[in-house]
Amino acid sequence: MSTTTMIKSVKRVFTFGKGRSEGNKDMKALLGGKGANLAEMASIGLSVPPGFTVSTAACQEYQNSGKNLPPGLWEEVLEGLKIVEEDIGAALGDPTKPLLVSVRSGAAISMPGMMDTVLNLGLNDAVAAGLATKSGERFAYDSYRRFLDMFGDVVLGIPHSEFDDKLETMKSRKGAKLDTELTAADLKELVEEYKDVYVRTKGKKFPSDPKKQLELAIKAVFESWDSPRAIKYRNINRITGLKGTAVNVQCMVFGNMGNSSGTGVLFTRNPSTGEKVLYGEFLTNAQGEDVVAGIRTPEDLETMKKTMPEAYEELVENCEILEAHYKDMMDIEFTVQEKRLWMLQCRVGKCTGRGAVKIAVDMVKEGLIDRRAAIKKVEPQHLDQLLHPQFENPSAYKSSVVAKGLPASPGAAVGQVVFSAEEAEAWHAQGKSCILVRTETSPEDVGGMHAAVGILTARGGMTSHAAVVARGWGICCISGCSDMRVIDSNKKLLFGSKVVEEGEWLSLNGSTGEVILGKQALAPPSLTGDLEIFMSWADNLRQIKVLANADSPIDAQTARKNGAEGIGLCRTEHMFFASDERIKAVRRMIMAATIEQRKAALELLLPYQRSDFEGIFRAMDGFPVTIRLLDPPLHEFLPEGDIDEIIAGLSADTGMSSEDIHTRIENLSEVNPMLGFRGCRLGISYPELTEMQVRAIFQAAISLTKQGVIVYPEIMVPLVGTPEELSHQVRLIRGAAKKLLVESGASLSYKVGTMIEVPRAALVADEIAKEAEFFSFGTNDLTQMTFGYSRDDVGKFLPVYLSQGILQNDPFEVLDQKGVGYLVKTATEKGRAARPNLKVGICGEHGGEPSSIAFFVEAGLDYVSCSPFRVPIARLAAAQVAV
Ligand code: PEP
Ligand code: MG
Repeated sequence: MSTTTMIKSVKRVFTFGKGRSEGNKDMKALLGGKGANLAEMASIGLSVPPGFTVSTAACQEYQNSGKNLPPGLWEEVLEGLKIVEEDIGAALGDPTKPLLVSVRSGAAISMPGMMDTVLNLGLNDAVAAGLATKSGERFAYDSYRRFLDMFGDVVLGIPHSEFDDKLETMKSRKGAKLDTELTAADLKELVEEYKDVYVRTKGKKFPSDPKKQLELAIKAVFESWDSPRAIKYRNINRITGLKGTAVNVQCMVFGNMGNSSGTGVLFTRNPSTGEKVLYGEFLTNAQGEDVVAGIRTPEDLETMKKTMPEAYEELVENCEILEAHYKDMMDIEFTVQEKRLWMLQCRVGKCTGRGAVKIAVDMVKEGLIDRRAAIKKVEPQHLDQLLHPQFENPSAYKSSVVAKGLPASPGAAVGQVVFSAEEAEAWHAQGKSCILVRTETSPEDVGGMHAAVGILTARGGMTSHAAVVARGWGICCISGCSDMRVIDSNKKLLFGSKVVEEGEWLSLNGSTGEVILGKQALAPPSLTGDLEIFMSWADNLRQIKVLANADSPIDAQTARKNGAEGIGLCRTEHMFFASDERIKAVRRMIMAATIEQRKAALELLLPYQRSDFEGIFRAMDGFPVTIRLLDPPLHEFLPEGDIDEIIAGLSADTGMSSEDIHTRIENLSEVNPMLGFRGCRLGISYPELTEMQVRAIFQAAISLTKQGVIVYPEIMVPLVGTPEELSHQVRLIRGAAKKLLVESGASLSYKVGTMIEVPRAALVADEIAKEAEFFSFGTNDLTQMTFGYSRDDVGKFLPVYLSQGILQNDPFEVLDQKGVGYLVKTATEKGRAARPNLKVGICGEHGGEPSSIAFFVEAGLDYVSCSPFRVPIARLAAAQVAV
């Protein structure tokens, strides 16, 4: 077989038209999301303008072959075009029956606005004259000048401003305020001027052959896959492994053919709240791009219902058909051309976490899906939005509301105003919370939008670029806030006479659209209503337990509210960060030169620990509380920046001289504190430390047991690498516990176990298990020591590793399954071989990360433990593994 026939045997062009399609909705990888769904809509009989999709595989071939159309592809495109021409009864380039097409990108994963589109392709002087005879002169020349602008900009890289300048000059020459006031003769003149722009900027005439136009446009869409903004968007959203973009070539339908035409977008339910109402926007006498680009602030669907009722009825019916077919909330684009409805796009709609949960619950109630399907519908990360703070008291800020825009993405945001995406990124890098304020956002702004805590735009609707992108990321956004004016040139924001300058604080309520002056107070969210129902379904399905990492009674209460079934990690050193007195007491303990001094300092620490343990046990009544013995990297308590002040304070408290304190600090200083004097190394060197902690734990546990609280303490030894380290501490713990229990006459069951966070411990887990009743993987340290990357310094090289693809993910965020995961699996197996009823969990940061959770379920762990705010995310992720 020759190479050409071999290549030709792989189908790369797929046609579609009402009632017939060569593709379907499951072919997203090959046809892109848009192409696959157009094929599906056409095949179930909806009115879709006929067209064809050039596959993503063809795009990949194009990129790999030095940016040439792959052999045989053009012939396939012409065959596809012929089918479309026959279907619609028009032909590309034929003035007697003119066919205009749109050429649009569409990858397997939606990348809103990141790649290119050309509309009205197929026009030249003769075709425009032909179109004028059929559809009127004004329409023909308006389409022609729009095409010249878009084709020049997208395909040939002629700046849009070159054309815009001509348009503006023409408008002022003719005394026209709006484009629509220009006459057919004006537009005809403008077409000639636009054509001159090509010659002046490119030294070449505009390509008048429609087939040549089509070839160049297909290439331009392929090229746009690798544009800087598309690459940046994929990096931010971690989109990898795609072949490229497909190209959708489709007959144009026109929403700008007068007042019986129009164009719109809608969601079949409200994407912010999940409410079951058609939620969309419509523009009479306009083309689709006008809505998506946010250039005109649109009308609502009621306008359409009044002015074109038949098309509206058909649209409503199509929405029902699509929801029943896809079993999901749909995001739809449509156009009405002279009262006739055309479906231009459909896809499963993106919504907020709150919206997704309500829709999943409602669809089960409506009988559209079952509970298992509902569980799969909500992305665990999306729950994050429901768990973020809301405003503490919305009625308290009413007098500070300065404007109201569209509630484009819900939640509350409080930050300092910046006026450009670059500034948002720079401020974010300095650890500041900022609100990005723009007249309207463009795809170039994605970096800054991601860095901001909130986005505020003066123009654009609910489906403008800013709104769509912000909702996808769960970032609070208010769009179309027409009460404000943004003056970029001197970085000012005007609300009438009120001026807000760069750096001033602003608060946004993305659920109501209110823009509020100043820094308003935030309150934690709660799990109620639909979310409570949804989470109960998740809990019934999952097999692994979800516990929380919490170090204070308040965190423990939050953890319980969020559904934690116990505490998997209480970092006792964190308890000392809570107040100045506590930190001072720890410093005295660190400074102690003799055992007597240390014991005296420990006596100061004991009451703090005991009262915190009491609060935590009380909050966890009936659930296990895993308390880890002290593991402070000592440098965290002696920050270099404040050292003079610390020494003065210590000297006053202890009577030691400044010089002695200095010497002691020098003796304690370590070259690599993360691998230094921490974990069980402390408890072994200073047994009185372990002994004090055990006393605090058991005094609290005994006292609460007497009050009727059910207490399950589990004492955990950190940073163990050898069985001897662990047995040393176990002996101490059991000895001290026994003494207290005997003295009090109380009986209490408790466990003693260990963290597995040193690779050696994982490798000799069978020996360790002989001493441990439970293992808890500390995947933060285990990652640090397996990779040999310092947790504190990884930021210096990780961005390079990620951008060069040396690592696919930050291993401190997403578990490295091959390496660190191998240790987790092996240690679990070895540990259980030595002690069959060994309880095994994980309490590193990975315990709240969905893909890592799937791995831990697979590895047979009993529980994951994560921060209280991530508990619902982990509960859902665990349920999704089960379904
Ligand atoms: C760990 O190492 O994963 C862990 C939970 O301990 P820490 O983060 O406190 O070192
Ligand atoms: Mg650790």
